[in-house]
Formats: sequence, C-alpha cells, structure tokens
Amino acid sequence: MARENITLKCSECGEENYISTRNKRTHTEKMEVKKYCPKCKKMTVHKEKK
Ligand SMILES: [Zn+2]
Repeated sequence: MARENITLKCSECGEENYISTRNKRTHTEKMEVKKYCPKCKKMTVHKEKK
C-alpha cells in the first residue's frame, strides 16, 4: 500500500479538522493547505500532523 492517512491540523488553534490520504510516491514533502477551521471560524493554514 502506497497510500497513507494524514491528519491536517490547524496551525493556529491546533484543532485536527481534516483527514486526507496521499500517495507516498508522489508526495514526499509535508502538506500545508489553507482550509476553513470551524474553531477559528476562518481560513487558516492546516499542516500535516506527524
Ligand atoms: Zn483553528
């Protein structure tokens, strides 16, 4: 299995808002995406939790 589950965590409040999957072979760097955080009630940067 090349797919891996990752948790995307709000960089401002630390809430774990999204779960995603990625292909290890094509994405080796850490994910960082702008998504809506219901706790912050705004768009924030979500980072991959390790
Ligand atoms: Zn947040």
